[in-house]
Amino acid sequence: MNRNKRIYLSPPHMTGREKEFIADAFQTNMIAPLGPNVDRFEKDVMDYTNMSGAVAVSSGTAAIHLALRLLDVKANDRVFCSTFTFIASANPILYQSGVPVFIDSEPETWNMSPDALLTAFKEAEAEGVLPKAVIVVHLYGQSAKMDEILEICDHYKVPVIEDAAESLGSLYKHHKSGSMGKFGVYSFNGNKIITTSGGGMLVSNDVKALDQARFLATQARDKALHYEHSQTGYNYRMSNILAGVGIAQMEVINERVDQKKAIFNRYQRELGGLKGLSFMEEAKGTLHNRWLSTLLLDSELYACTPEEIVIELEKENIESRPLWKPLHLQPLFKSNKFYPHTKDRRISEELYENGLCLPSGTGMTNLEQKRVIEALEMLLLKKSQPSILHA
Ligand SMILES: *Cc1c(COP(=O)(O)O)cnc(C)c1O
Repeated sequence: MNRNKRIYLSPPHMTGREKEFIADAFQTNMIAPLGPNVDRFEKDVMDYTNMSGAVAVSSGTAAIHLALRLLDVKANDRVFCSTFTFIASANPILYQSGVPVFIDSEPETWNMSPDALLTAFKEAEAEGVLPKAVIVVHLYGQSAKMDEILEICDHYKVPVIEDAAESLGSLYKHHKSGSMGKFGVYSFNGNKIITTSGGGMLVSNDVKALDQARFLATQARDKALHYEHSQTGYNYRMSNILAGVGIAQMEVINERVDQKKAIFNRYQRELGGLKGLSFMEEAKGTLHNRWLSTLLLDSELYACTPEEIVIELEKENIESRPLWKPLHLQPLFKSNKFYPHTKDRRISEELYENGLCLPSGTGMTNLEQKRVIEALEMLLLKKSQPSILHA
């Protein structure tokens, strides 16, 4: 095996068809902005997610920002947000000068805890300051407990933005992940399950709101021959070239989900025998796209942290990563409120301290995955506490 070849966490996986759509854009000189590839890519995502509308934009972060603008999040408005996620889920709240309030995970899905959410709502209601929106993240492709979360949010009449950047292709009780809230957000960044090299999509059944999103995303130009502006806009639309990449990638989304699941199943089969390792479970009634294969280590059985494993695997030219550091632990958010799952359990912190993401690229060969499995096995054997070896 060629140990010099680097194994990445989740690199782009092209089909070859992308070039045909890009060539079309060149032939017609529809380079940017917008064009028929953008229209088709939007239609493909709409059809796939069963939504009435979709707006292709330059990133998932931009799509979240637009959703917050459409929900009128302004200075000092509160927004509830999953704490266990990538920073991009919450940064757009700051772009609007809003105040993020972080909600812990629950142990089954690792996503937003309905219990913590309810506590946060009750306190906000008592203070007379309900949030303007709730951002629910479907991390690593696992859908959050949407029935419980939507019931709470509907009760308080607060709209939900689904950050489905990592969960395109996942299902929650027959609904596509990202299609259940007021707005859904997908990302096509280079490491996501499909990619346009960089891009995002905002989906909704509120077609009027999406028209407004298109308006804001193209510099908010009022109707006039000259350039007339009465609101702050953004330059957030996706180019016709990149949308061409997206069309070809959407053709294989289901295939990519199957490949991701096969990778996860292999890790689980080959490593599942090791004591003190547990893989992220697929919640009942859902389909998990297995964007990244993730697992937890029992720290009583292994004398190493996830960070040490990442460093050791790096020596084998294998890229892995700790789980996301919860946002309420980030220096940027040190003065923001956080609601734990229960009074004495902070699930997101437990996950962060013990969890690891393994290479999950759909272009990874079986031999390459074997390299990862063997390297991890060797390492864990070395790091086993005597209590396991003599058990
Ligand atoms: C990738 C990601 C985003 C941001 O998407 P970009 O397209 O990179 O801006 C937001 N939230 C989560 C959970 C992500 O993983």
